[in-house]
Amino acid sequence: MGEHILLLGAPGAGKGTQSKRLAAEFDLEHVTTGDALRANKDMDLSHMDTEFDTPRAYMDAGELVPDAVVNEIVKTALEAADGYVLDGYPRNLDQAEYLSEITDLDAAIFLDVSEEELVDRLTGRRVCDDCGANYHVEFAPPEEAGVCDECGGELIQRDDDTEETVRERLRVYRENTEPVVEHYRARGELVEVDGEGTPDEVFAEIADVVDE
Ligand code: AMP
Repeated sequence: MGEHILLLGAPGAGKGTQSKRLAAEFDLEHVTTGDALRANKDMDLSHMDTEFDTPRAYMDAGELVPDAVVNEIVKTALEAADGYVLDGYPRNLDQAEYLSEITDLDAAIFLDVSEEELVDRLTGRRVCDDCGANYHVEFAPPEEAGVCDECGGELIQRDDDTEETVRERLRVYRENTEPVVEHYRARGELVEVDGEGTPDEVFAEIADVVDE
């Protein structure tokens, strides 16, 4: 049976980059609520008695999309997966509780990155509009500015990677998601990895954890 891996970390810690690679190398499904929501930004939530009517409105504000929406996405995706890497979920304790009801984890890995580094990474991040590859204007520039090395697609800045929204996302992370990290740590289930190395260094450490 495939492994059940959870990758935890703040926005910009490298969860997306590392989960994609883990999924490819260990033949796991990459389950990511962020990508799922970006692909369904204008889903109509008006029947749900929630603050905003679309995922887009929450995401652009840097707030969490309602639990009912993301829980459903994760349940459907995990049911269809044998092994998986879960990225971007759970982001609060209620989601962590829900997750424990629908699956068992083999490892919860936390990517540790300082707050200054997170802000620099997120505000300089560019993503390919076609294939989703990640770049950074300073730390990992493409060969030609604005053009994806992988597929020639256009590189764009995510709507929520502006400085103001980044600050709010980090505040929401501290308030809602740090308790999730503490929850797994208190249960002795958390493996911490230094997330400030190069992508290759960080991947080597994560792969060691999964291999065990
Ligand atoms: P990400 O790509 O993981 O940084 O997610 C981008 C945005 O999608 C977040 O700022 C939230 O608005 C929303 N989002 C992603 N995952 C979740 C989640 N598990 N719970 C609530 N909102 C989420």
